[in-house]
Amino acid sequence: MRDAAPRAFWLDHPDAPPTRPPLDGSAEADLVVVGGGLTGLWTALQAAEEGKRVVLLEGERIAFGASGRNGGFCAASLTHGIANGLARWPGEMETLERLARENLDGIRATVARNAIECGWQDRGVIDVATEPHQLEWLAQQAAQLRRFGWDAELLDAAALRAQVDSPTYLGGVWSRDSAALVDPARLCWGLARAAEEAGAVVHESSPVIALRPEGAGVRADTAGGSVRSRHALLATSAFPPLVRAIRRYVVPVYDYVLVTEPLSEAQHHAIGWRGRQGISDMANRFHYYRQTDDGRIVWGGYDAIYDFGGRVAPERDQRPETFELLAEHFFATFPQLEGLRFTHRWGGAIDTCSRFSALWGRALGGRAAYVVGFTGLGVGASRFGARVALDLLDGRDTERTRLEMVRRRPLPFPPEPARWAGIQLTQRALARADERAGRRGPWLRTLDRLGLGFDS
Ligand SMILES: Cc1cc2nc3c(=O)[nH]c(=O)nc-3n(C[C@H](O)[C@H](O)[C@H](O)COP(=O)(O)OP(=O)(O)OC[C@H]3O[C@@H](n4cnc5c(N)ncnc54)[C@H](O)[C@@H]3O)c2cc1C
Repeated sequence: MRDAAPRAFWLDHPDAPPTRPPLDGSAEADLVVVGGGLTGLWTALQAAEEGKRVVLLEGERIAFGASGRNGGFCAASLTHGIANGLARWPGEMETLERLARENLDGIRATVARNAIECGWQDRGVIDVATEPHQLEWLAQQAAQLRRFGWDAELLDAAALRAQVDSPTYLGGVWSRDSAALVDPARLCWGLARAAEEAGAVVHESSPVIALRPEGAGVRADTAGGSVRSRHALLATSAFPPLVRAIRRYVVPVYDYVLVTEPLSEAQHHAIGWRGRQGISDMANRFHYYRQTDDGRIVWGGYDAIYDFGGRVAPERDQRPETFELLAEHFFATFPQLEGLRFTHRWGGAIDTCSRFSALWGRALGGRAAYVVGFTGLGVGASRFGARVALDLLDGRDTERTRLEMVRRRPLPFPPEPARWAGIQLTQRALARADERAGRRGPWLRTLDRLGLGFDS
């Protein structure tokens, strides 16, 4: 760990494109997109493909935020998992799961059509039980996946350990087609190029400092210039928002990741994992892990850190105590890899909302829209989120905009200090539930009844 570079593995890549010039002077557009993560990029690409004049303004670099720092699990689910969707929109889940499948297919097709080299792998994901009480959850999960037509196989301990060998494993569900794995930064870089090829203009190092109505449209100002546009789409995730409403619904929660050096042939042999599936465990405080193209292991999760006041700042990208804990858990899971070194360590802000899945809204009298709140599962859902936001801006009445999930907002978080206190209480209750065979105490049961929650 001592030598691990304090930066995201995915961004530390020779394919990283040169920085695009910042906005300099004034520009005209049909749509100005604020934020160059997956949500902003999918918006820019889809709008440019419709023939709109698009300008995208990114404050730092493309993929600077969560989009360049995540685990690269590209799940079909639009609802942060089927169980969460069924709890909130039971009547819509048939439609939402069909749209989820279409969305994942759409991402795969875009990657292929634009020859985006992003290490796309249709290997599926395995959810593993490491505690006896989780075995029952696995069975429920397999049944839910199959109900919506996904190819899911329940694995007992022996079958699971034949796939990936950890002494902590008691069983698993291998969902073969409900998620892919991707290198998220290279996906972003490829989407930015594809958007430009479709006619969009992309500026980096161009933080938008003000967004205001101007005539029938909107004006986005940066230090170097301004874009006058018919519409604006805000894709700023967990970062300080340009419209106040977002602050009520979204809190930045930091999640941390380690990456190992490439495994030797003998180390690979010791753990198996020839199927290279994505893996996560079933605890409230869960780990997610996967391999990279060059045979490393990406290992993240467990801690989800909210700081009083919800600061997003570069110094929060590093948290030694979380890295130590993650390393300890790594070697408990794979004791065969004792001595393996970590080469990268980093963190990033997740845009957590109380229902764990995207929320949409309009601002500036309908001239602007926003989509935020993906809560740790936005790699795939961001394309759908962007599509819906474009529908809303254009005033289109579609199957998507009629969804209750789209029309309704989540419950807002209270202001500070109640916000911080409530999140601490909930996190402690989730940790306690993990220690007590998954049993949820009175606080969590009350939140469940209210439809409020905390996750990453
Ligand atoms: C550690 C970690 C692991 C994760 N793992 C997974 C996973 O495996 N699978 C999954 O599905 N999801 C995962 N997620 C979540 C996923 O990364 C996000 O849901 C997704 O990337 C959100 O994309 P986004 O474009 O909305 O946000 P971001 O990628 O955060 O992009 C927002 C962008 O807006 C820019 N910006 C902000 N304000 C301004 C402004 N005023 N002007 C101009 N630009 C601005 C920022 O610089 C940033 O680039 C993870 C997240 C983290 C942090």
